[in-house]
Amino acid sequence: MSKPFSTRSYAFTEQGEALNWIGGAFVPAIGGGTLAVENPRHAKVMGRVAMSGPADVDAAVKAAAAAQKAWRLVPVRERADIFYKLKVLLQRDLEELAWLISHENGKTYAEGKASVEKTIECVEFGCSLGNMGAGEQLDVSRGVNCRVDHEPLGVVGGIAPFNFPLMVAMWMLPQAIVGGNAFIMKPSELVPFSSGRLALLFKEAGLPDGLFNVINGGADAVNAIADHPDIKAVAFVGSTRVGKMVYARGSATGKTMLCLGGAKNHLMIAPDADRALTAPNVVASFTGCAGQRCMAASVLLAVGNVDAILTDIIAGAKKVRLGEDMGAIINQAAMDRINGYINDAEKRGAKVVVDGRNAVGPDGGYWIGPTILDHCTMDMPCTTEEIFGPVISIVRVKTLDEALAIENANPYGNAACIYTSSGAVANYVTSRVEAGMVGVNVGVPVPREPFGFGGWNLSKFGAGNITGYDGWRFWTRPRKVTTKWAVQSDTTWMG
Ligand code: NAD
Repeated sequence: MSKPFSTRSYAFTEQGEALNWIGGAFVPAIGGGTLAVENPRHAKVMGRVAMSGPADVDAAVKAAAAAQKAWRLVPVRERADIFYKLKVLLQRDLEELAWLISHENGKTYAEGKASVEKTIECVEFGCSLGNMGAGEQLDVSRGVNCRVDHEPLGVVGGIAPFNFPLMVAMWMLPQAIVGGNAFIMKPSELVPFSSGRLALLFKEAGLPDGLFNVINGGADAVNAIADHPDIKAVAFVGSTRVGKMVYARGSATGKTMLCLGGAKNHLMIAPDADRALTAPNVVASFTGCAGQRCMAASVLLAVGNVDAILTDIIAGAKKVRLGEDMGAIINQAAMDRINGYINDAEKRGAKVVVDGRNAVGPDGGYWIGPTILDHCTMDMPCTTEEIFGPVISIVRVKTLDEALAIENANPYGNAACIYTSSGAVANYVTSRVEAGMVGVNVGVPVPREPFGFGGWNLSKFGAGNITGYDGWRFWTRPRKVTTKWAVQSDTTWMG
């Protein structure tokens, strides 16, 4: 993917091969392996992706280490300057990138565009680090000063999922690169093309070769990154199953690791919730990006009588137009998994009040329509396992405490939301819920910059958050410098 993407519609477009980007050049995987990449909206192969192994990762590490030697000495403001230039380029190419993401991922154009806009917001945070990245200092005794400098780690890596190409990479890159590191990015093999475009944009922005590298592939590439002794830190975003393995594997080699995993997000509707505010927000939360978001609503805990709101949610879900308001499902395996959960819930007694099975969207791709399962119980897999599709399971409860007990018992802890008009109810829930990101009348409570993004429990392995200032701390290490320049009159335990 070395040339701009010229299609400005959903018309099927072939892309050739997504190559690796090492030291400022596109190269095939050393072993020559490739894998087909599908356009989900058309369910047709749009190109191939290089499948890398340890030798490719090693080549990228060597290029990165060589480039990082000079980069760490560049003042932080000059490093941040690259991100000012990148921001302008991303704005220039917003339409192109939105279409490219739509083609490789199956999102609608509007969703692709929104994801590039969020990418740009992350880049803006990188720009701010030229000012906000200052260390701390304090006179700790007479004539004695302590200072903390944020030093780079060296060569670092990132591993991304399929659902937000570009954006998840940019959760990591600004803090890591402005922090003085060289980066090796491993995109999802399902959506590899936008990373190649990003490589060219970094080059155009003036980032020296070797500081941003792309290694394409799957598990072999990930394992090689986790194992490589010269990669000092790795951030992973993906499923809990893989995140947990990668966390253990990377930690075993002494790396600093932060792995964000899967989710099972609960929305609670209190009887005093505002009907007009709540219903469309719930529909957007579980159908946005076809439910393929770690922040998507998955279980709806209806507290007491909220039937009027449920009626509006059902009506709203039925109005969602496939291909226009909601995008495609990533592949056949995901279709089978999602349909499997719906079929299973129905067999166990749930009522399918909105049925997205067998939905037909445009262009013959992978489609499942919004699906609402009512009268679900907590012994159904649809209420406890991550479905990662446009499906919401309604569980009816009598009290807020019952809703909280269900939410608290789930092993994940990414996001939760309470819909209410009462500050007291909101405070009661936000202070008790077992989730790292909580919304009050906000069904997708993504903390925007400068706040950090990250869940709790099985939704995250490692300390801190991935975006915002936490990201700066993750991708740098604090050097503490204590200075004294003259004999002092006082005596302390320091002598
Ligand atoms: P995934 O775990 O299958 O893949 C993520 C990355 O791991 C990819 O780059 C993939 O190539 C690699 N990978 C896959 N299998 C591997 C294996 N066996 N060993 C080593 N590496 C492997 O996730 P996905 O399907 O691409 O994305 C969906 C998942 O990501 C969902 O569970 C979703 O909740 C989660 N997610 C979480 C967040 C968050 O911030 N917590 C954000 C986005 C997505």
